[in-house]
Amino acid sequence: MIRWCCYCQTFIGEKEPLSNYSVTHSICTSCNSNLLNTDHKNINTTKLIKPIKDFFASVFHMAETLEYSDPQELIKQGLKLGIKKSDLLLGIIKPALWKVGQQYGKGKLTVYQEHDFTRYCNAIIHEIGREYQFKPLDLNKGTLFVCIDSNFHTLGVQILEIIARENGIAAKAVYPSIPNNEIIDLVKLTGVSLLCVSISSSQQIPTLLSLQKELYKLDKPPVLAAGGLSTDQLKKLDGILSIDQNSFLDLLNFLKENNS
Ligand SMILES: [Zn+2]
Repeated sequence: MIRWCCYCQTFIGEKEPLSNYSVTHSICTSCNSNLLNTDHKNINTTKLIKPIKDFFASVFHMAETLEYSDPQELIKQGLKLGIKKSDLLLGIIKPALWKVGQQYGKGKLTVYQEHDFTRYCNAIIHEIGREYQFKPLDLNKGTLFVCIDSNFHTLGVQILEIIARENGIAAKAVYPSIPNNEIIDLVKLTGVSLLCVSISSSQQIPTLLSLQKELYKLDKPPVLAAGGLSTDQLKKLDGILSIDQNSFLDLLNFLKENNS
């Protein structure tokens, strides 16, 4: 379930059941402390969260109908509701993509609908990420997001780059995927202290492990993290931090610690 603070429209994260992509109301820590003396019984939280619920439903509906609003308009519409651009990506676009994938898996949406919606989300991410794309950046001790060779799913690393940059973290996403020797060259060139690798199938694990071997040969290898597969599969990999795909916010906190 996708948790939003119904008082300030901030995305709080996801909670079990993770396969249920419905928006649920919650309260963030800052609103909680501001409203300490408020009698919550008299506040209609269902009514407060309704605009976010409707907004999420309208985004998902576009996948079903193939009728899309202009990406800039959608971003504006979100801002009008008090939704920050980063929260739009994490709390609306990312879960909508997962939900569309899930519905496709169940045969309720076609592959065409899934592809077309992914293309639309790409346009939103591109629109939001434009301001960061080509700004000069010192990546020394920063973070690099890469897709392992032959992983064609690039939206995750693109979203993470934007979220990191919005939070003042020096980070760069490289996509489409590049071979291991190029990743190593890039690590040497930039001096990043964290390398986050996106993998999309267990068949790519051997490539990830050989990348890890190559990294160990460096004088100062960066911390290696991987995401994209189930946490259970990733946790079995020695010396590689697993990034839970459902907790990008936890990853962000980790990046902040790594960056300080
Ligand atoms: Zn709040």
